[in-house]
Amino acid sequence: MSFDSLGLSAELLRAISDQGYTEPTPIQRKAIPVILEGKDVMAGAQTGTGKTAGFTLPLLQRLSEKPAPKGRRPLRTLVLTPTRELAAQVAESIETYGRHLPLRSAVVFGGVKINPQIDKLRRGVDILVATPGRLLDHANQKTVDLSQVEILVLDEADRMLDMGFIHDIRKVLAMLPSNASRQNLLFSATFSSDIKQLANRLLNNPELIEVAQRNTTAERIEQVVYPVDKGRKRELLSHLIGEQNWRQVLVFTRTKHGANRLAQQLEKDGLTAAAIHGNKSQGARTRALAGFKNGDVRVLVATDIAARGLDIDQLPHVVNFELPNVPEDYVHRIGRTGRAGNEGEAISLVCIDEHKLLRDIERLLKRKIPSVVLDGYEPDPSIKAEPIQNGRNGKGGGRSSQPRKRATGGNRGKPSGNSNAPKATRKPARRKPAGAQAKPQSHRSRAGGGQEKAALLGGGYRGK
Ligand code: AMP
Repeated sequence: MSFDSLGLSAELLRAISDQGYTEPTPIQRKAIPVILEGKDVMAGAQTGTGKTAGFTLPLLQRLSEKPAPKGRRPLRTLVLTPTRELAAQVAESIETYGRHLPLRSAVVFGGVKINPQIDKLRRGVDILVATPGRLLDHANQKTVDLSQVEILVLDEADRMLDMGFIHDIRKVLAMLPSNASRQNLLFSATFSSDIKQLANRLLNNPELIEVAQRNTTAERIEQVVYPVDKGRKRELLSHLIGEQNWRQVLVFTRTKHGANRLAQQLEKDGLTAAAIHGNKSQGARTRALAGFKNGDVRVLVATDIAARGLDIDQLPHVVNFELPNVPEDYVHRIGRTGRAGNEGEAISLVCIDEHKLLRDIERLLKRKIPSVVLDGYEPDPSIKAEPIQNGRNGKGGGRSSQPRKRATGGNRGKPSGNSNAPKATRKPARRKPAGAQAKPQSHRSRAGGGQEKAALLGGGYRGK
């Protein structure tokens, strides 16, 4: 199926072909015609499925079909995103796909100066992409007028709720025209009861669009668990990166402090590394991301919130240095890899403290993740599980609504809590020549990964 049959205008088709896209992804096939009809949409789709174009293309078309009134342009479309990075990426997509249309867009988020944003808003924009906090700053200063918004998009709504933005979202909604007079589009990777509640309030008779089974897209990505003692994780990570010659690896830690410390330790091991998290200035985050994208930074260490929405093409390796407290975050994390039909692998370094977290993740995925004990890195059976230190004070992390997960003593002393999982023993990785494609039975060669991903993304889906 080509883009031509979706009802998009010649200008948009031209922008799509400029990008080299030949076929719409499943979410695009389903969402574009429905949004063009003017219907409300509740869509279950993760980052990496092409969802941004799925809502951007039809909203650009709807706006261009009804040109802005003469004089100062009213703001007609508002896209809310949870993070600055996602806001920047959505804004970039709007620019890219709207390049042949006479529409104006802007993006506003915190952590950068507000005055240039005010100047841009003053000149008039049709579409605004915003994070909730900075949008409210503008609204309070009366530098943005939301009273004529015709299309509202909540992107990654689940993450916005996780980050505690519900009050800000309510305030924004109160400034918009009534639900009935606008089109509302809600995108979310997961459908918790909170999301359903928000959707009930926000959406009118929505079309429900789902492209992957709820909460289970992780099945499509090659995954492996390496059981290892907590104190040896860094050593194992450096070793894997060097020995397998990974050039671009995204590593997740649970805390900001942990991200900083790991990035510093990896630098000491001779790897170029940078940390990205909410305490970093926007400039530092942008630099770290740019360095990672252009290959100057080999390892990007990130917390969940900072990494949300990062669109890094063809990211081959994601490592969970620590498992997330919230199982859904595992799905989000590993969604960073193997994007746009490319192969990818997700590796989790799991110590005894994290066995409960691993079980929670496997329950959510409804499957066991293959567990591989690497020779030379076998967990010490005398080490007992300890409660997980989150390094959070209930604020800062923005996730205080989530219950803390703690490792219980249920697996005390066992080398692996995942005893039913398929196991393999490998030759000591450290004895391989550096840069060799290591393992006799590489998990890259396990059946299915690439094809499964292609199936998820649709036959003709390909990366840029
Ligand atoms: P998203 O899920 O919106 O973050 O998109 C993930 C990636 O897929 C982005 O790098 C897009 O540029 C790319 N993409 C979006 N639509 C298509 C398509 N139809 N064909 C190939 N790549 C696409």
